Amino acid sequence: MGEAKKKMAALGPRPCVYCGATENLTDEHCPPKVWFAGRKPRMIIVRACRPCNSAFSTDDAEFVPYLSILAGAGEPYRYDYWRQKSVPILRSNRKLLARLGDMKRRDIVDEKGQIRNVGVVDFPDALFLRVMSRLVRALYFFNYRSILPAETQIAYQFVPDIRALFATRGLAPGRQMGETFSYFHQRDPEDATSSWWAFVFLKAHFWQVGTGREAEKLLQSETPHRIIGFVDPSS
Ligand SMILES: [Zn+2]
Repeated sequence: MGEAKKKMAALGPRPCVYCGATENLTDEHCPPKVWFAGRKPRMIIVRACRPCNSAFSTDDAEFVPYLSILAGAGEPYRYDYWRQKSVPILRSNRKLLARLGDMKRRDIVDEKGQIRNVGVVDFPDALFLRVMSRLVRALYFFNYRSILPAETQIAYQFVPDIRALFATRGLAPGRQMGETFSYFHQRDPEDATSSWWAFVFLKAHFWQVGTGREAEKLLQSETPHRIIGFVDPSS
């Protein structure tokens, strides 16, 4: 038995972190194993009932190509990630491939203020919200030892620069999970359902997720939480 498993076994019976079920449980890796290529990082293991666990498998796989697209291929390992993870998933998922291939040409203003005509992928809010909610629920249980109530509102937002976030919030406890993923979190000491999370994927793109009051704040903030991703045709 590995160290992590021993530690978890010592905690006694634990419910499904998503729905609270106490039967038909299985180990669930968080973040999901399918998101990693090559050497796997040290993973968090939580418990999930089999219905919850299997409900996420399509989402987990479909999220991978979007992770790649958002990260670009600027670093060798991001390129490897695209090749090793996204390509096989797209090969076996024709619908997803068609959705990603159905790019519209659109003029956008890039970060240097220049107009460029690029292919635009419409990013699926519903998928992203499901993926983020699930990730937050698992990490919430892992860090705070209680289940985030089912009715708690959850919202996500893309963040251009995570350092700006920390400048306004102060440093949050965090955990580096390897090249693909790390996360930071804070919980309101007076309102347990109100928590804030920051995720870094492939060291390239940043998301923040709020629950409860933090979700309301995100939804009210100026920055739109919807984005369109673009693929640079020159890359
Ligand atoms: Zn469940």
